[in-house]
Amino acid sequence: MKKTAIAAVIIVAAVFVAFLAYDGAVNKEYSSDFFVMNTYATAKLTGSKSKEAADEIRSLTETLDKGILSRTSENSVVSLLNVNGAGDAEKISDYLEILFDVCRKSGGAFDFTLGAVSDLWSFGSNPKLPDDSAIREALSHTGYEKLKLTENELVFGDKSAVIDFGAAGKGIALDEIKAVLFEKKIKQAVVSVGGSVLLMGDKEFTVGIRNPEGNSGSYIAKLHIPEGCVSTSGSYEQQFEANGRKYHHILDPETGYPVDNGLLSVTIISQSGILSDALSTACFVLGYEKGKALAEAYDCGVVFVADDKKIYAENGAENFIEITDDAYTLVMQ
Ligand code: AMP
Ligand code: MG
Repeated sequence: MKKTAIAAVIIVAAVFVAFLAYDGAVNKEYSSDFFVMNTYATAKLTGSKSKEAADEIRSLTETLDKGILSRTSENSVVSLLNVNGAGDAEKISDYLEILFDVCRKSGGAFDFTLGAVSDLWSFGSNPKLPDDSAIREALSHTGYEKLKLTENELVFGDKSAVIDFGAAGKGIALDEIKAVLFEKKIKQAVVSVGGSVLLMGDKEFTVGIRNPEGNSGSYIAKLHIPEGCVSTSGSYEQQFEANGRKYHHILDPETGYPVDNGLLSVTIISQSGILSDALSTACFVLGYEKGKALAEAYDCGVVFVADDKKIYAENGAENFIEITDDAYTLVMQ
């Protein structure tokens, strides 16, 4: 090899080594946790701007909650729509289109207009068993078909209807967070908002499926998966006891009462945060057979945990799952 060629090879190698060293030095890991959307959020980020990104994630989710999705924050987009029964929905129209689609494809098992009913149950604040007559009256003001999205205007056919993004808000947050992670060139991220997790990076991640009957730190299975979003809806998340019975926060839109179909949790794997969150709720309401078909229609992996300690992993989730609690059995179909 000529001297000049050897010199060129040495220079290229030196630059490469210097780049690796620089990249390693600036790829800092940064973790933060905070309370938002009535739940705990955590972010573990690796990249040169990991702290900046974590700070931005925190303020972004707070603004998304208070300014847009919250039903308790007086001037949020959702609160104004609920008070006025109509209005500018430009900031949420992309989400609404997706949620209307989930409502339709789930045959109404998912319905983001159940707000009047969930208000009666007061999950999240001071839960109580409502009067049956009050539930029936509130139910008459639900139904996604009564709402129309035209251009960017949402109009309620029933002015007493109340929209509630409780089943999809955490997933929406993950999609917004993803944009920040790209913008800040984050190399690897695990961000959770309540029961929804965003995994980003070129590696295999491990996500635990919670023991529905244990405390928040106990798991019955693990998912070993590439990047994406994972959301779980579980009856254990918010429940209370009245007259010797347990009541939880996932409601059957036909009855206005908590779903009682033998499921304890449903986990969805998707590239979309909003879909993972909305579909975990929808599939919980639909139960195993119909839920499996819905997850398939959206090309998402799904794991059902039933109260007889059987676990069903479908649409690809069977390739990722490892059962870690002997009391549970993976049912192979
Ligand atoms: P998640 O924990 O994501 O399953 O969401 C549950 C929350 O979504 C509840 O606290 C209610 O605010 C709302 N919700 C309950 N039942 C339904 C349903 N059938 N369709 C849509 N939203 C629901
Ligand atoms: Mg959900």
